[in-house]
Amino acid sequence: MSAAIALTGMAALGSPTSSVAALSSRGAAVSTAAPSASGVTVQRAAASGCNTRLAGTTTRRAPGSGRTVALTFDDSSATDMTSVLKILRRYGVRATFFDIGSEDAKMPAVVSAAARDGHLVEPHTWNHVYPSKANGNWSVPYLTREITTTANQQQRLTGRRPCFFRPPGGNMNNVPATTRALGLQNVLWSVDSRDWSEQRQLTRTATAGIVRRATDLRYAVDRNHPIVLMHAGKMSPEPKGHTFSDRPNTVAALPAVIEWYRARGYRFVAMDGTSGLVRP
Ligand SMILES: [Zn+2]
Repeated sequence: MSAAIALTGMAALGSPTSSVAALSSRGAAVSTAAPSASGVTVQRAAASGCNTRLAGTTTRRAPGSGRTVALTFDDSSATDMTSVLKILRRYGVRATFFDIGSEDAKMPAVVSAAARDGHLVEPHTWNHVYPSKANGNWSVPYLTREITTTANQQQRLTGRRPCFFRPPGGNMNNVPATTRALGLQNVLWSVDSRDWSEQRQLTRTATAGIVRRATDLRYAVDRNHPIVLMHAGKMSPEPKGHTFSDRPNTVAALPAVIEWYRARGYRFVAMDGTSGLVRP
């Protein structure tokens, strides 16, 4: 949709660190504001273009009629998001990125480029810390801050207010209550490529394994509307010292994954139901 690249109102947005309050600048006249549990004002999504009926709900199903598939990429790094964008452009495929705020801050140009192509860039927390290691086991104020700082920065970089959230590891502690208040829908997945479990080295076996799992619909809640989980960076669940910023096997597997779904009549959609690229 054209709103995905609308740049209006960007100047009104605050910096990501200072403005938990500035979730939405569009249509501010009709938005409602409510004090969040952390004591700051959070603009609800009512005027943002998000479907407010979906706020706080959780989906594992790609939107749209006919056969649709949503490719989703978590944990982006500059290296791999750039490689993934190149492949998506070659195939004319629109996708959804669930990015970590602290990583987006290191690669603002790549995030903006993704939005210009038509992809959605959505929050996946700022620090990607699992509940057991986080303040208050993911308390509502903690999650609110993690999501809004990431979403504010993404809105500033993309010109579009995020409408979705993917919790790291699929953990759901306090997630529905938090995202209901923020007006976001939770997006999990129905097909897991498990690309995060592959080693850094590019190997035929590792790449083939990702292709096989990313096209295995046996466990999908709706085989006509799978959401495929892949990673355009590497963050979880390895300890910090074991993380690295490139996923050569994911990048190598992506063309075959796209071709597999395309050959079976699937249309590639972002989580808002849009498809195709803005700039061919
Ligand atoms: Zn993640």
